[in-house]
Amino acid sequence: MANSNPEIKYTKLFINNEFVDSASKKTFPVINPATGKQIIDVAEADRADVNKAVEAAKAAFARGSEWRNMDASARGILIYKLADLIERDTKYLASLETLDNGKPYEDSIFDINCAISTFRYYAGYCDKIHGSTIPSDGEFLTLTRKEPVGVVGQIIPWNYPILMLSWKWGPALATGCTMVLKPAEQTPLTALAVAALAKEAGFPKGVVNVVPGYGPTAGAALVENHDVSKVAFTGSTEVGHKIMETAAKTNLKRVSLELGGKSPLVVFNDADLDEAVEIAHNAIFANHGQNCVAGSRTFVQSGIYDQFVKRATEKAKARKVGDPFANGIQQGPQIDQDMFNKVLRLIESGKKEGAKLETGGEKIGNEGFFIQPTVFSNVTDNMTIAKEEIFGPVQSIFKFNTLDEVIERANNTNYGLASGVVTKDINNALVFAQAVQAGSVWVNCYDAVTPQAAFGGYKQSGIGRELGEDSLKEYLEVKTISIKLPSKN
Ligand code: NAD
Repeated sequence: MANSNPEIKYTKLFINNEFVDSASKKTFPVINPATGKQIIDVAEADRADVNKAVEAAKAAFARGSEWRNMDASARGILIYKLADLIERDTKYLASLETLDNGKPYEDSIFDINCAISTFRYYAGYCDKIHGSTIPSDGEFLTLTRKEPVGVVGQIIPWNYPILMLSWKWGPALATGCTMVLKPAEQTPLTALAVAALAKEAGFPKGVVNVVPGYGPTAGAALVENHDVSKVAFTGSTEVGHKIMETAAKTNLKRVSLELGGKSPLVVFNDADLDEAVEIAHNAIFANHGQNCVAGSRTFVQSGIYDQFVKRATEKAKARKVGDPFANGIQQGPQIDQDMFNKVLRLIESGKKEGAKLETGGEKIGNEGFFIQPTVFSNVTDNMTIAKEEIFGPVQSIFKFNTLDEVIERANNTNYGLASGVVTKDINNALVFAQAVQAGSVWVNCYDAVTPQAAFGGYKQSGIGRELGEDSLKEYLEVKTISIKLPSKN
């Protein structure tokens, strides 16, 4: 059962397997987005705390440490243990996530189940990460070793707090790295609770550290630290640019980025209308539109355009918005005042620039950050809502005529995270899937993200891949060892 008043056990920084105050003793307020009121104060990390956490992670990674001496298979068992503990505490963690983030309780349960699957997927990899022997020129035995890159700095956003944590921790732990995670300032609570579970699972001290704080202070200090060998970041494209720049100016740390998107979902005339409307609705409204892969440009072929708009509008009107702890609620509040203002500002721009508002467009109530599910039709490619990531419950429906036209328009963006196509024609589906510039293409479905398959962006949606086998190489160095032999064979 959901508990709308879960006990908050951890509010301090987690460094070296201990919960500690920040050096400055400063704290910051965590706000409940459903009420706009403060939930609790959390210790605020700044440079001194981040550097201390990196020191702990560095010591845990040192040659001869418990972590470095541990068998890879034993590392896997620890990750399985962590997954089991998260599973044991699913209801508590889901309650905490919903309180902190405002997503419906059932969505929090779903996220946590995905996080558990992610940890289990990577647990199995620990003792299967290996190099090769190479038939090199000359009289050498040549082999490669895959070695952990070292201390990893991880910076995550507020839209999927536990899930993003698992995407960062899973591959980092599987490869034998140590890490310092900075959760988003809006949602630090579940990361601290999972850190306590990592200690309970038995990870040696310093392997996992969590430093809540703000981006320009704690986040920037982590990226600037010369002992951090890699930064894994999820968040805005704007901050992604800063992270690359800082990495270049400091120690050329490795960088992987999962950034924003403006993902196209294309519906052809031959699609089953009910199915297409449902897919498109979920593609944009899931997680209140606060989803990097949100299908925020719905392209509908002209033959079914009017019918589609009518049904999509009915569906948006029927969406249940309210207290995220209440049964049957599909949409809670936006994350904070800033995002609430940004979404409303972009809705206004849509109206002003000539899109047709079919439904929604207003805030709901005077408490918390609730916004009506909103549908715009007659959206054209030059409008602000067609170009900027809204990150809110706003569906924009565009009209198109031909496959070639829609491919060009779908790709006419700086982003390239995800895409979808709904059609019964296999040629349309496959030509689109090959031509679209996006890291994921979902055919007759959307948001089919699984731990086993790579996820990431083309263009300014990111660098590198998370999930799947592909993510492991982001955390590994390849060392070539050549051994001179008296004869070739
Ligand atoms: P953001 O990029 O500012 O924040 C994401 C994380 O980066 C947070 O932990 C934040 O503290 C940290 N951060 C911020 N500035 C930093 C800096 N200078 N150095 C290091 N770390 C820093 O994102 P936001 O303000 O929460 O949201 C703004 C926009 O970002 C949204 O409107 C949306 O477009 C996009 N966004 C994308 C995702 C995603 O999943 N790709 C998630 C959240 C937000």
